[in-house]
Amino acid sequence: MRCSDCPRFDEGKALCKDGKLNPGSRQGAIDVAQQFGPRSICMMNDHREMIVDVWQGNQIEGKPTRRPHTPTRRWNLEI
Ligand code: SF4
Repeated sequence: MRCSDCPRFDEGKALCKDGKLNPGSRQGAIDVAQQFGPRSICMMNDHREMIVDVWQGNQIEGKPTRRPHTPTRRWNLEI
């Protein structure tokens, strides 16, 4: 979700009212998690689920795989 479309976005200050960050790329999400921790990433960010999985000890396996017949993206992670 883009911040400009979110009701929690303060257009005057150009900041999130909740103090969250919404990186647009996977690398950006990794950098934010390393600098500020995974709780600083917005709940609606596309990369947050992967960050939380890695934070819990799972490995990054490369690009995400898609299961046929399921619309949601699933990560193929080994524990
Ligand atoms: S960081 Fe998340 S909650 Fe905050 S304005 Fe952006 S989309 Fe909304």
